[in-house]
Amino acid sequence: MSRTVAVIGGGYGGAAVAKALETEADVVLIDPRDAFVNAAGSLRAVTRPDWAGNMFFPFDTLLTRATVVRDRAVSVDPAGVTLASGRRVAADFLVLATGSSYAYPAKPAADSVSEAVEDFRRTHKELAGADRVLILGAGPVGLELAGEIKDAWPHKQVTIVDPAERLLPGFEPEMVEELHRQLDELGVQVRLGAGVTPPAEPGRTGTFTVATTGGDEITADIWFRAHGVRVNSDYLADGLLTTRTPEGLVPVTETLNVRGHDHVYAVGDLTDVAEAKRAGYAMQHAEVVARNIAAQLRGEPPVATYEAAVDPMILLPLGPRGGVGQLPTPDGPSVVPTTTVSAFKGADLFTGRFTEQFGPTAA
Ligand SMILES: Cc1cc2nc3c(=O)[nH]c(=O)nc-3n(C[C@H](O)[C@H](O)[C@H](O)COP(=O)(O)OP(=O)(O)OC[C@H]3O[C@@H](n4cnc5c(N)ncnc54)[C@H](O)[C@@H]3O)c2cc1C
Repeated sequence: MSRTVAVIGGGYGGAAVAKALETEADVVLIDPRDAFVNAAGSLRAVTRPDWAGNMFFPFDTLLTRATVVRDRAVSVDPAGVTLASGRRVAADFLVLATGSSYAYPAKPAADSVSEAVEDFRRTHKELAGADRVLILGAGPVGLELAGEIKDAWPHKQVTIVDPAERLLPGFEPEMVEELHRQLDELGVQVRLGAGVTPPAEPGRTGTFTVATTGGDEITADIWFRAHGVRVNSDYLADGLLTTRTPEGLVPVTETLNVRGHDHVYAVGDLTDVAEAKRAGYAMQHAEVVARNIAAQLRGEPPVATYEAAVDPMILLPLGPRGGVGQLPTPDGPSVVPTTTVSAFKGADLFTGRFTEQFGPTAA
């Protein structure tokens, strides 16, 4: 049997599938980027650009046997992938792992490490010259960004605005209360139940005043967008492989096969698995898919299944030493102390974990 596995997208899920299967199959990883991006590091890369190299793990060193094709999928059918360059990659197995895009700086916009690091440097320079920062969106990204800014520049004025009435709905009230306490202590102003229409370009210095829907005004010197996640699935719009959900997600079975295809799988933020979209879950999906493809390569049925995570979990650092979190336990979600948030995430934003798994960073 021929053994080509085309993995489309080398983020948390795709890189893990490619790494797990590269010794057992002819893996072709397709991604316009030149490195795996640990997006959890992006916000610190803005406030401490010398640190930015830590979040990139070049595919050249991460994968020793797989073939890496720097290109973008524009169409996928059950027999292979067509790329933006016009090239065709035929495959026996396909893994869709194209994830999601967040507004910069939460995920880098540029595809190469050098350009992405340059973008972080430029934004850092703009931010360094701004005394008052406005963040639109009080979800985990906006809150983490506020924490990183306050850690680097304790005296900057940071305001977060969000139309929602409460922070982190669905999480344990005790954790949300502690979050408010820490934000107060840092001097971060949180305006909930309010919206603003920002001036032209985010991430650029230039003083402006905006009226909130709540009736007051905010003056700031720079603003960032911290809302609006987009699923990367446009290349499926031609319907040659599957019909996406109205949200652009890919319908999968419990074995993480794309519905109707026993040799095509999907992992990560792209899937319609009914759970929050998280890197941790993408990597668990990757384990299931790697086991199923390995079984099929041996001529066995794919029996590994994935059960959607039910309890909301989060590790939300506010700088390297602050933050809140809640983790699942057999007895339900448990609020964890700040020291745990720092040890598991805030201190190095997972750099150590990925260095163990994926080899050296670009730093
Ligand atoms: C600041 C921040 C902090 C976060 N913190 C956490 C955390 O602590 N814990 C957690 O579990 N999650 C966290 N997340 C969420 C996490 O980043 C996402 O859930 C995760 O990125 C999803 O992984 P993925 O493998 O599905 O796709 P992604 O990581 O989005 O990777 C997709 C890859 O596909 C490539 N691609 C896109 N389109 C194409 C195409 N057409 N052809 C080929 N390749 C393509 C992209 O270049 C990219 O490399 C955080 C996110 C942000 C932004």
